[in-house]
Amino acid sequence: MPKRICKLCLQHRELRRSHFMPRAIYGNLRAPGYEPVQLTSKVVRPTSLQTAEYLLCHDCEQLLNKKGERWVLPRLARYNASFPLYDLLTKRPPVFDDGYLAVYATAENPDVDRESLINFAIGLFWKASVHSWSGERQEARIDLGDVGENLRRFLLGQAALAENVALVLIVVPPPVSLIATTDPIRGSNADFANYHSYVPGLFMNLCVGADGRERMKGTCIVSNPLGPVTVQDVTPDIRALLHSVGAGAYKTKKLIETQAEIVEKQLHKKPQS
Ligand SMILES: [Zn+2]
Repeated sequence: MPKRICKLCLQHRELRRSHFMPRAIYGNLRAPGYEPVQLTSKVVRPTSLQTAEYLLCHDCEQLLNKKGERWVLPRLARYNASFPLYDLLTKRPPVFDDGYLAVYATAENPDVDRESLINFAIGLFWKASVHSWSGERQEARIDLGDVGENLRRFLLGQAALAENVALVLIVVPPPVSLIATTDPIRGSNADFANYHSYVPGLFMNLCVGADGRERMKGTCIVSNPLGPVTVQDVTPDIRALLHSVGAGAYKTKKLIETQAEIVEKQLHKKPQS
């Protein structure tokens, strides 16, 4: 293991190979009997799923696991299975429900680990801001500017989330048809910077800028004392978002490569006759 500067604690340590998406998430994505091609139409991005980089020391890997991943990952949606996060969240009546979307208060629900949800989401956005997670390019996946340093210190428990940051979590009601993950990407909001990332059943939105915090404060799980989580079927929005992002030539190339990989794997799986 190489000894380098750990991106999270900034100490010179032996680094572990970190995966962008925690490895446990593979279990959620596996679909018995499911055609792998359908996974690509849902824009699973296998390259970064498989990418592992020397980024964090053992202690920092453990920290991200203990403070977020360990609680969140087993509670995400799976194929043809229960969706524990949704079930726990909706055990109590919503604080707001207009028939279109419902808002649940995690602060009033002892079965939902609000801190883990926050740390998990912040951890993903932060990881995307410090590395490309791609052999094909150098620059970080998203540019969070100064906020990146705030997220790093937040994850270490050294700072509160900056005043100009809002985190909005949206849970998709079951049955969840989009069992996929997306890397964090920059959204198209014109008034403040926004970033999205999706793991099965959970759509995470990070808003950066004074306007962002102000406008999103009603639904920000961090700053709103209720710790709100929205339940809304945003699947069509996520698909549209991914489609628009996936239209670029760079991603098309990746998609083609993925298709080739899948074909190869399918052939591989064919029983010998
Ligand atoms: Zn470290």
